[in-house]
This record gives sequence, structure tokens and C-alpha cells, in this order.
Amino acid sequence: MARSLPIERSVVTHVTSEADRADSIRRSTPRPIKICDSWRSKNGARGVTDLEAGMRVRLGGMDFAVDPDHQDIVDAVDRVCRDFDDEYWSRCDRDHEFPWDFYRAMAEGGWVGIAIPEEFGGGGRGITEAALVLNRIAASGAAMNGSTAVHLTMFGLNPVVKFGNDRLKQEFLPRAATGDLHVAFGVTEPDAGTDTSRIATRAVDDGMGGWIINGRKIWSSKALEAEVCLLLVRTDGDPGDGFGGLTLFLVDLDPAHCDIAPIPKLGRNAVASCEVAYDDLPVEAWRMVGERGRGFHHILHGLNPERILLSAMACGIGEVALDRAVAYAADREVFGRPIGANQAISHPLAIARMQLTGAMAVMREAAWRYDQDLDCAELANTAKYLAAEASWAAADAAMQTHGGLGYATEYQVERFWREARLQRIAPVSQEMTANFIAQNILGLPRSY
Ligand SMILES: Cc1cc2nc3c(=O)[nH]c(=O)nc-3n(C[C@H](O)[C@H](O)[C@H](O)COP(=O)(O)OP(=O)(O)OC[C@H]3O[C@@H](n4cnc5c(N)ncnc54)[C@H](O)[C@@H]3O)c2cc1C
Repeated sequence: MARSLPIERSVVTHVTSEADRADSIRRSTPRPIKICDSWRSKNGARGVTDLEAGMRVRLGGMDFAVDPDHQDIVDAVDRVCRDFDDEYWSRCDRDHEFPWDFYRAMAEGGWVGIAIPEEFGGGGRGITEAALVLNRIAASGAAMNGSTAVHLTMFGLNPVVKFGNDRLKQEFLPRAATGDLHVAFGVTEPDAGTDTSRIATRAVDDGMGGWIINGRKIWSSKALEAEVCLLLVRTDGDPGDGFGGLTLFLVDLDPAHCDIAPIPKLGRNAVASCEVAYDDLPVEAWRMVGERGRGFHHILHGLNPERILLSAMACGIGEVALDRAVAYAADREVFGRPIGANQAISHPLAIARMQLTGAMAVMREAAWRYDQDLDCAELANTAKYLAAEASWAAADAAMQTHGGLGYATEYQVERFWREARLQRIAPVSQEMTANFIAQNILGLPRSY
């Protein structure tokens, strides 16, 4: 029987007592990062020297001991997920049915509110813990159908936490913390995907202190279940003018003014992504998140943590796909021996394992940096890129390992394969991640 990738468990440690634990926390004090930060502020340059400084940070500041709390989180989430088997996820996917029972179990366990601040009834934990939860959900076999059922409520309201007014926080965060509030996220439009500056959905001043919104968004995930949508719209200027005219609102998906239609798609079919047409949707002034014209900036603030969480999910999908493939390769005999004895089968699985281990390590470091309020953009993008490739490598190798049965729904790997492919496209494509590194880290000329 193949075991789950012990990415978490293998590093559980020599921390045997409270004294060891305190020592472990002391050892994780990020002194080298301060050196690098001062180096950066003095020099301010990009290029090879800066990269070297970045490497020094990573070599100097890591502690590989796992916080025992994290192990508890992993174990507890694994326990919840055990009640939802392949048959459950297969049925939800096949019938395009939102996984309500699973969602309720996660909400009751307090996992949906884990990253909401404690003052609003949440768990007050960081991206590191949220990433662990989503990773374990995905690795349980729930894959994206499970992890994206919860992740927008878990983390989608981050711009409200960071930039929202008191009324927004008081009304919505406590309900998100209990899992009662479902949230969608509306940025992409038919003519504004990668290039957000082309957003044309418009909010117009209604002359009474509020706004009227008209326009069309596509791919708004969970819009069928969500009560509210974090919506990026144009309040000023014209499409293509840049990002200055974009403003963020937390709007009600009021059926009298919102026409919501699921987009038929390849995978993750338990969680629909929708086209949403906004027709004279009235929005009160207090529903504006942050400042007028700063909406893109407010969204940007959430992009790094979103990339980190998606990396964790992608690694989870890769992990379960690999797990199934290893079990099958050890068991299935062709020409009188297990197919796993053939290096053409075993090497892609071994390589996928190495890719997943690397992606998971970078994801963990990016999450740690975010939670320490340190710049994490390079590592968040790197994690997203590596995790998408690792997830795909594992799922594709799993499909090949299963031969014809890989194509049969009964063996589940085709479901993982369909979802792993998505990681290379959304929420940010591999090309745009590479553009970020090329332009912002290597300092190469911009392509757009
Ligand atoms: C299942 C699913 C769920 C989604 N959920 C949401 C959601 O909840 N909310 C939301 O707002 N959006 C959502 N999206 C949308 C997603 O974020 C976009 O699909 C993604 O950002 C890419 O935009 P696009 O599809 O318009 O591609 P386009 O912008 O049309 O780009 C097409 C291709 O060209 C490449 N390309 C474009 N410009 C460059 C360049 N300069 N250099 C190199 N390559 C380039 C892109 O990388 C991409 O591969 C979802 C998408 C999917 C598929």
C-alpha cells in the first residue's frame, strides 16, 4: 500500500519538550533577513548581486523543525477529509454538485475561518496554516473540488481585512469566520483577463452617495453559491487607461440585478465558475473596499497569498495523484512483473516526487515570509510556477502509469489530471509568472 507523501510528516522532528520547542522558535529568529533588507535599502539595485543577497537570506534564515501545532492541523484536517471518499468527490464532480456536506464539516471544525482575525471570531492564524489546510484537503483526493469550495471564504476577504472600513468588517468577517458567508471574486472579463487595465464593468455615482454597476464578468468562481462578490470595477477613466480608475466593492449578488450562468468547463465541476451580468446593480457607499481608484492596488495586496494558497492546493493534487500511481505501479503486473520495475514508469514518478518536494519547500518559505511581513513576491510566484509544473508532472505520470484505466473515471486519476492542468492557467498563467520573475527580479525589459 503506497503512503501519502510525508512532506509534512517527514520533518517532524526532534522537538520533544517545551524547552526544545522554545529553542526551536529562538532558532527561527529571522536575523539574516534584516541584513539583507538593509543591504537592499542601501543599494536599491536589482541584478545578480541582489539575487546573491536573496540566496544568503534563504541559506541563513531557515529552520526545518515543524511547529507541533502545524502537525495537529494536518492530522485534524486529514481526519475530517477521511469521511469524504473518492465516490463522494466523483459524484460531486460528475453531477456538478457543490460539496455542501464537506463544506459544513470544514466550517464546523473551524477550518474555514482559520485565517480570519480573532477579533472577528476567526482563528487568527496566518497563510502558513491556511496553506496547510488547503494542501491536506487537496491531497485527500478532494483536489480542487474540495479546496476551492472553501478557499474564497477562507481568504477571499483579505482585502476587507486589510483595507475595509469598520462596518464592512463588522458585518461580513464574523459570518465568514463561521463559514456562513460564501464569497465570490469578480475580476476577469471577456476582454480583461491577463490585462486587468482593460476592465470595462463600470460603477457610476447615483447622485445620492451610492453607485450603480453595469457590466459583465466571466469565470467568477462560486457565484452560484455566493451571497457577496468582491468586485473590481471602473469608477474613472476608460478601459486601457491603466489601473488608476479601478475601485473595489463588496457587492451583493442580488438576483434582481445579476444574471449568473455557469461556464461549462473541463474539470473542478463541483465548483462552478460563472459568467455574471450586472444590470443596474445598486451599491451603497459603505460597500466600497478601501479607496476609490486604489482597487487594483488593494487586489494586488492579496495576490501573493493567493499564489501561495494555490501552490499548496496544486501540491496536494500532485501528491494524491502520485500516491495512486505508486500504488498501481507496485501492484499491476505486465509481462510477469510489476510495471513499477520499469524505469520508464518509475522515473517520471520519482521526478514528480522531487518536483513536489521542491515546490512544497518554496511554498512553505513564501508563506513564512508573508506571515512575517517580509517581501514574498519572488517566492510566491516561484512557488506558484513550480507547484503548477509539479502537479501536472505528477498527474500526467499517474495517468500514463494507469494505462487505459487512467482514462476511466473509476480510477480517479483523470479527475486529478483535469484539475492539475488548470494550475498552469489560473489564477495566473505560467507565462505571467515567468514575466514577473523576468521583469521584476531579473530586471529584464518589459514585454507589455
Ligand atoms: C476554472 C477557472 C476559475 C477561475 N476563477 C476566477 C475567479 O473566481 N475570478 C476571476 O476574476 N477570474 C477567474 N478565472 C480567470 C483566470 O484568472 C484567467 O483565466 C487568467 O487570469 C487568464 O486570463 P485569460 O483567460 O483572459 O487569458 P488571456 O489574458 O486571454 O491570455 C491568454 C494566454 O496568453 C498568454 N499571455 C497574454 N499576455 C502575455 C504576455 N505578455 N506574455 C506571455 N504570455 C501572455 C496568457 O498567459 C495566456 O496563456 C478563472 C479561470 C478558470 C479557468
